[in-house]
Amino acid sequence: MRLILLGPTGAGKGKQSGRLKQKFDIPQLSTGDMLRAAVAAKTPVGLKAKAVMDAGALVSDDIVIGIVADRIDEPDAKNGFILDGFPRTVAQAEALQQMLQSKHMELSAVIELKVDEQALLDRIQSRVDETLKSGGTVRADDNPDAFKTRLEAYRIQTAPVSHYYAEKGTLKTVDGMAPIDEVSHAIDQLLLAH
Ligand code: AMP
Repeated sequence: MRLILLGPTGAGKGKQSGRLKQKFDIPQLSTGDMLRAAVAAKTPVGLKAKAVMDAGALVSDDIVIGIVADRIDEPDAKNGFILDGFPRTVAQAEALQQMLQSKHMELSAVIELKVDEQALLDRIQSRVDETLKSGGTVRADDNPDAFKTRLEAYRIQTAPVSHYYAEKGTLKTVDGMAPIDEVSHAIDQLLLAH
């Protein structure tokens, strides 16, 4: 099973990837996690990526493609993987296609978790309001402004990746606003067809 999960921050990609990882016993390959590990280890890639990541921008395609190419060659990815956070640009999607072709591999499915941006923003705002009302402190990543910026970045930079897979006919869409169990069920149903 080789899967790609697409969707903006807050869509529940991480939760669903974690579940699919258990279910199919395949690794979850998160480029964000791999880059953060490279930054922490101060590798040459990490040193290059740090400033870009701190600014919330995208790391260059060359770097990210290189990381993924190495990672999918590891033994644990032989029987499949879930890509989480990659591809984020059409160039990355094209590079992935070439990588897989050269290994005679195919993607099983590309699943997009569709969300309503305004509903997500309302959700995070009411969580902030409730926390403040009960005298708590708000987590840095629960800040609606930062969240909005990330949603916008996704819409501008990554939405073309959905079109790329839609044109190829491999894109499946799931309502990411539904309760978690329903999203899980919808994904399972889609994968049964494979
Ligand atoms: P994430 O944890 O997926 O939100 O990723 C954290 C940061 O890592 C992003 O803001 C980017 O700077 C970088 N990053 C992760 N994946 C990619 C990717 N596929 N292409 C470019 N940059 C990425």
